[in-house]
Amino acid sequence: LRGFVPPIRSNSGNIVNVTSHASKGEDALDDSTKRCMDMLCGPDGDLPEKLRNLEPRLIEHISNEIMDRDPNVRWDDIAGLHHAKKCVTEMVIWPLLRPDIFNGCRSPGQGLLLFGPPGTGKTMIGKAIAGEAKATFFYISASSLTSKWIGEGEKLVRALFGVASCRQPAVIFVDEIDSLLSQRKSDGEHESSRRLKTQFLIEMEGFDNRNEQVLLIGATNRPQELDEAARRRLTKRLYIPLPSSEARAWIIRNLLVKDGLLQLSTEDIDNICKLTEGYSGSDMKNLVKDASMGPLREAMRNTEITELKKEDLRAVTLQDFESALKEVRPSVSVNELGTYEAWNNQFGSLS
Ligand code: ADP
Repeated sequence: LRGFVPPIRSNSGNIVNVTSHASKGEDALDDSTKRCMDMLCGPDGDLPEKLRNLEPRLIEHISNEIMDRDPNVRWDDIAGLHHAKKCVTEMVIWPLLRPDIFNGCRSPGQGLLLFGPPGTGKTMIGKAIAGEAKATFFYISASSLTSKWIGEGEKLVRALFGVASCRQPAVIFVDEIDSLLSQRKSDGEHESSRRLKTQFLIEMEGFDNRNEQVLLIGATNRPQELDEAARRRLTKRLYIPLPSSEARAWIIRNLLVKDGLLQLSTEDIDNICKLTEGYSGSDMKNLVKDASMGPLREAMRNTEITELKKEDLRAVTLQDFESALKEVRPSVSVNELGTYEAWNNQFGSLS
């Protein structure tokens, strides 16, 4: 049996033999890299043309770290944002599910920008889109391209778009996209970040021209930093605002119900909502977390953690939330909101 290499099943269900790559001079690849490459092979067991000139270790990084096989967020997990959900369903999910109908005049733009304060659900929307449209989800933070992948960002971008195009339908979510596509800083801009930006725009143009089922979603807290070229490619721009009072109530209920801790009255929840004007979704989550520690902290005054009986813990009360409000402050300042609203009026997709 010496030299025998067991065949493994590729994602498309085809049996491929890992030695098929070795014959292409890739014998130095370790098993995990080979497995990633094999998952991307076509029915004939060969690596698609567009991946052949890419470095296997980058393909492996994309497959293992950037590609999320199970984004695990559904529309129903996201509080409020009815307008954004409606727009996204029409603009993005339907076209990904029915490319045969969304062609010609109906062909969708392939770039979507989600902008607004941090912690308002932009990443959740990206994941939910992938989940609802049964698409493969790729998540990358643009700042990691410039910080972690110094000098290799361009290659990684090429690999990212290459792998996404082999896993259609696909959603590429680029967080902090402003750090990649910011306005040209004439002299100050480094040559390398200019090249990275150009490469990124070329890749975007490429999948647009090839009519691929790949959607690019950019997210930013600083939309005003994007230049005209970036805006042109991100044809739909949706404002993701802070949660309304109803949405904040929904987040509180949803989190406490999940853990079996909801015993607050409607009036209590209304009160908490009044006190949390200006809190983001993420602030609300931190607030609920802190409040739910209240009963535990109290019980710990008279007992050891190892002796504590879960059933003896009292319910979370309005007072727990009032104490938590002193610890968890809103992370977005009111002044910033004006900037988002002005940018939305000028460049946002309002309907
Ligand atoms: P962003 O990408 O806008 O910075 P995220 O989508 O990463 O924000 O949200 C961070 C966390 O905050 C989420 O994991 C979720 O727990 C909570 N959150 C934010 N917005 C919402 C929302 N609209 N509905 C429910 N939870 C939210």
